[in-house]
Amino acid sequence: MSNEFILGLTCENVRKLSPYESARRLYSGGQYWLNANESPYANDYAISSEKLNRYPDCQPGALLTAYADYSDVKPEQVLVSRGADEGIELLIRAFCHPGRDSIAICPPTYGMYAISAETFNVGVTVAPLNSSFELDFEALTTLAEQTQPPKLVFLCSPNNPTGTAIPPEQIERCLSLFANKSLVVLDEAYIEFDWAARWSGRLEQYENLVILRTLSKAFALAGIRCGFTLACNAIIKTLLKVIAPYPIPDPVAQIALQALSSNGIKTMRQQVNNIQQQQKVLKETLASLSELKPVGSEHANFLMFRAQKREALMQYLVSQGMLIRDQSKQLQLQDCLRITVGSDAENAELIHLIQQFYQQETRV
Ligand SMILES: *Cc1c(COP(=O)(O)O)cnc(C)c1O
Repeated sequence: MSNEFILGLTCENVRKLSPYESARRLYSGGQYWLNANESPYANDYAISSEKLNRYPDCQPGALLTAYADYSDVKPEQVLVSRGADEGIELLIRAFCHPGRDSIAICPPTYGMYAISAETFNVGVTVAPLNSSFELDFEALTTLAEQTQPPKLVFLCSPNNPTGTAIPPEQIERCLSLFANKSLVVLDEAYIEFDWAARWSGRLEQYENLVILRTLSKAFALAGIRCGFTLACNAIIKTLLKVIAPYPIPDPVAQIALQALSSNGIKTMRQQVNNIQQQQKVLKETLASLSELKPVGSEHANFLMFRAQKREALMQYLVSQGMLIRDQSKQLQLQDCLRITVGSDAENAELIHLIQQFYQQETRV
């Protein structure tokens, strides 16, 4: 059989892509997973099989209401999807013409905005963060004043991988800059770690504001793939035109509802507190090593360091079954490693391995 034939049929923009390389795919042998900003907690849930013979609701009503209550918005301002990643994809599919429109991103930031755009042959323009990881309004203004401004402007706060938060006055300035031009998509995947900074209370004020949320991080449910888009009802209605008929499996809705119950939210808040305490300890211990220099800030559940002998350190950690995330290919993040705050045992093992690596290095 010839691959030439398949390659010839494949869309030109898809030909250039390669499959998403998660650490899970690359290093299936690892035992310590501090690479994907998952929660170290695995909470228990009960599942009923009563309705598994039926297709689920496209948008389970009880789940919309529960998330709306949690976020202080109206159910008609909520869309539930297969993770926040699907929210990103739906926004691009609903608002961007392939081959014509573009999105804007502010790197260093989350990779899926650009990856999703590329799969739909939608352009990606950049307004990089400045050296303090703040929005660059000169670059954003240039984008806003183009004859064809980007359809979507992705902001991430707290930002992955820098852990920095965008000050509210800068988000406001961005919303005004792109008013009547572009949707400003504020990715709040880590907002539970910086809850006072949430923007959900201000949806009524800004027609062009879209907020992305997920149960994958603070709620410790990356395994069920459940995310939310918050926006005015006109935007939600538009997204409903492109979403699949049954995107939320019934067991996912059942688990999500339990996570969003008052008990579930209480558990989440305690776990967030614990993670934040461990984060302080982990940061102090690692920052005391002269070979590691903290970069960015701690508004989410991870840390970032610029590391001496970054490549060798990564290789050593992988050889010991410890996975963290190399961010050194991102703008301004040369030699930077992102470390998810894990369980006490995982954090202790990480500290031990890093100390051991640098001790060996100085001996030879
Ligand atoms: C993890 C993450 C997401 C993806 O969330 P899912 O709901 O698991 O798809 C979105 N945005 C950012 C910034 C993330 O770090």
